[in-house]
Amino acid sequence: LPTTHLKDGHQNYKNEFKKNEEQFLKLAREGQSPKVLWIGCSDSRVIPEKIMSANPGDIFTHRNIANIIPPKDSGENCTSSVIEYAVKHLNVEHIVICGHTECGGIKAVLSDQSNSEDKALVNWLKYANPAKEKLLNQNPNSEPDYLDTIKQNVLLQKENLLNYEYIKNKSQSGDIKIHAWLYDLHTGTISANNNKDNSWQNIV
Ligand SMILES: [Zn+2]
Repeated sequence: LPTTHLKDGHQNYKNEFKKNEEQFLKLAREGQSPKVLWIGCSDSRVIPEKIMSANPGDIFTHRNIANIIPPKDSGENCTSSVIEYAVKHLNVEHIVICGHTECGGIKAVLSDQSNSEDKALVNWLKYANPAKEKLLNQNPNSEPDYLDTIKQNVLLQKENLLNYEYIKNKSQSGDIKIHAWLYDLHTGTISANNNKDNSWQNIV
């Protein structure tokens, strides 16, 4: 194992497991029924289960660089297959799209990528470009602000999600709630977008 830190960590986990064995075995026996699908960034500092103090079985998770949901006609199946399974088979009631401050993916989107040799990264991050372009359109005379772009990207991904017909239907009928969230690395606080006035308010 890479570090003794992780090795010790796993030993602690095994001790916890033994202590709560009944609960774990119940999950193994009965299967999962999470109520929440979390689509977040791969960033090592933004760990959904830790931020929400969640237990095994609570959150169905998909993380990628810059918490992106590729448009439905993009041909990308990784993210959309997770969404499909969570919504159609696990019947989750909430979908959280969670961006975060200091997102390296969005920093890359704001930088000049034209000479980058990281083909996969550039190809992936193009799905966040419309967030930058929208801000540029609103204010052509200044470079888009980092934090504004991070927030705009969360809203863009929510739009992409709602372009899936079955998601739109479940959202309109109230069977599913979609949350656009931002995690602040400096304060450990989550704020949610209020689509009525576009403000961001702490969830607790
Ligand atoms: Zn990130």
